[in-house]
Amino acid sequence: MIGAVDIGGTKIAVGMIDEAGKVRARLQYPTDADRGYGHALANIRGMLETTAHSAGVEVSGIGIGSTGPVDPLTGEFGNVNFFPKWKGENPVRDLAGLFRVNVAMENDADAAALGEAAWGAGKNKKRLIYVTVGTGIGTGFIVDGNLYRGVEHSHPEMGHHVVDPSGPQCDCGCHGCWESLAAGPGMTAWVRKQAPEDYPYRPDLSAKRICELAAEGDELARRAVEREAYYLGLGLANLITMFTPDAIVLGGSLMKSAHLFLDGIREIIRQSCRLVPFDKTELTLASLGEDANLIGAARVWHHRFSRRGGQRAC
Ligand SMILES: [Zn+2]
Repeated sequence: MIGAVDIGGTKIAVGMIDEAGKVRARLQYPTDADRGYGHALANIRGMLETTAHSAGVEVSGIGIGSTGPVDPLTGEFGNVNFFPKWKGENPVRDLAGLFRVNVAMENDADAAALGEAAWGAGKNKKRLIYVTVGTGIGTGFIVDGNLYRGVEHSHPEMGHHVVDPSGPQCDCGCHGCWESLAAGPGMTAWVRKQAPEDYPYRPDLSAKRICELAAEGDELARRAVEREAYYLGLGLANLITMFTPDAIVLGGSLMKSAHLFLDGIREIIRQSCRLVPFDKTELTLASLGEDANLIGAARVWHHRFSRRGGQRAC
């Protein structure tokens, strides 16, 4: 039984995940980054002990998926936006010391990609790109069951490839990154800019709300959905042209409304990918649901240490 730890900007989830990728017990707690790394580590330890007890199991290994950047080989946090004071802290080393088991950590999108590749919609795909669309766009690239790493084990940031240099400025410093145009905040910002002052839905706008309004027939929300499908499609078409994967698995909160976007996305891909067999790339929705990151975190352990989890990635 693998103890899984999903470290996000607002919450840390912990669970016990069995060999089939099923969640046997889970708990979560606010990240409370300002209370320091030691506080978070103590919470993680407590939640691992409690979930193992309630599932009636011993922890045989621990896998971590974390918002990045993280160093997958040393186990150290880099300069993470959400918890800048944790830089250099090392949950891999610390949890290995506390529980006396092997521990591995990956970026959370890479972790979810590993989970979908092993136990979800990406099963049996040789070349798989996982894309999560929510408050940002995260990606993970799996080739023959192994995580693709860049130079010095870096995590490629496909969400920050530029699709429109005249687009809005992104947190990364560039203009018109895919994420700045197609993630939830980009969608909300566009509607705010377009909407008249008396637009009745202005006070509680969110990507989720815009999707609901589009489904109810609101004209501005409908245009926002069209725009969203266009930019999602453009970025996905770029990935297909560059990597010609067997499948792209789409996850994240915005993909709960995927039915609003998929036709538009497919049309843009058809128009854009003229030199590659785009119709052979399967576009599919993630299947591990709300716990995709947690289940993926368990898969991080299998990927690194289990012979059946694929080859060692490092
Ligand atoms: Zn960017």
